[in-house]
Amino acid sequence: MKTATWICDTCGGEISDVSQGWVEWLTRVDGDERAGRGLRLVHHWPASPKQGKYRCQYNTEDEHKKDGSTLLDSPLEHFWGADGLMRLLGLLSEDELPKADVIEMIKRLHIGGYELARRHFEGAIADGAFDTNTKPGFHTQAQIKTTLDWLRKNNA
Ligand SMILES: [Zn+2]
Repeated sequence: MKTATWICDTCGGEISDVSQGWVEWLTRVDGDERAGRGLRLVHHWPASPKQGKYRCQYNTEDEHKKDGSTLLDSPLEHFWGADGLMRLLGLLSEDELPKADVIEMIKRLHIGGYELARRHFEGAIADGAFDTNTKPGFHTQAQIKTTLDWLRKNNA
């Protein structure tokens, strides 16, 4: 399936193909429930520009020491396409991770242009690139395109 570009949450570098991405989070048992944290999208180990034992992925030993959490992780491909969206919705329904984190991941993986525009909406709006009538961070495709055009113009 076609590639897209994402930004690694660890190193800030580009993840330029689905096969290079890795989705991971940490979870621990809290009473009868599982409490998750730290959902993120990073370079898969072999694709990472970083060195070291864990590269862009979680240092599972350090994270376990913090609060007893263990790692849950999957290739980005697992959360890609219609089946991937369904898996993310399933994750959302389980209430294991903060809802806002799962929603953000859904937008990053499934809304065209969102990943590259998401850090720039406020700047584009402040600069008058578009008037927003949507909930902050929940923009239309036209607004996302305007933001990306604004970004290109300002980086030129
Ligand atoms: Zn990375």
